[in-house]
Amino acid sequence: MKRLALLWLLACTAQAQSPYENLTPEQIMARSMTELSPGLYSFGSFGERSLVVITPDGVIATDPTNAEHAAAMRAAIAELTDQPVRYLVYSHQHWDHVPGGQIFKDEGATVISHANCVPHFQARPNSELVMPDDTVQGGERIELGGRQLTLMYFGRNHGDCLLVMQLDNSDVLFVNDLVTPYSVGLGFFPDYYPGEYLRTLKEIEALPGWSRITGNHGIPVAPRDALSQRRRYVEALMQAVEAAMDSGEYQGEALYDAIELPEEFRNMRGYDRHIRRAAERMAYYYGMGW
Ligand SMILES: [Zn+2]
Repeated sequence: MKRLALLWLLACTAQAQSPYENLTPEQIMARSMTELSPGLYSFGSFGERSLVVITPDGVIATDPTNAEHAAAMRAAIAELTDQPVRYLVYSHQHWDHVPGGQIFKDEGATVISHANCVPHFQARPNSELVMPDDTVQGGERIELGGRQLTLMYFGRNHGDCLLVMQLDNSDVLFVNDLVTPYSVGLGFFPDYYPGEYLRTLKEIEALPGWSRITGNHGIPVAPRDALSQRRRYVEALMQAVEAAMDSGEYQGEALYDAIELPEEFRNMRGYDRHIRRAAERMAYYYGMGW
């Protein structure tokens, strides 16, 4: 997990540009609880983020990440309310988000994930993982203290059990690892299904009534265009790779070196570091169908 956090930090420091440009890596990695709308928070530490919902009857938290992050999140929640954490939701199955939930289980939280996460947990056991008590298929709502947290599922995209979340009719969507704002993410698109990822981003763009996103990495909140920018980046990348392959001009890895995207995307964090691997990933997507 530390290695993943380091990789992410490297990706984020590769190219300074707005809106990160006034933030140091230390500030990006710092612990903070940011209120996004009444009762809705993003807790961040060490480059990892979790969603927190505080109600008069208890708390909903997501993504314990590891014991250290979970303990820091629990302490930050205690500064806002005396209520217990009643639900812990795993946004998806990846190991940089789901371990460390025991502190919430010990106070009686019900642990929830999409049903598709469970086979991943069973296939690769992790002693720091609290297995889900309940699973969902998508479309369900967690109701607590007069608030409703809707759990949406869009099929395969980043993994196959990712839940996008929205509190009541808040204008903020929790899109977890689908988008790190203004960043290209990791170049080799680990556990992304490129075609279905693009489909998912378009389906989210088409949802009514939202204007901001929050996620598992990066700044606490960003305008909706940050999601659209990631969609445009993936589209441009896929189109450029497909066109280069169709041209027949490039032999072997020369194709990866030939891919260069328009300036809007070159200004995204991590572009220089990741574009070659991103091109290779998409070449395999078109060449092998995955
Ligand atoms: Zn992930």
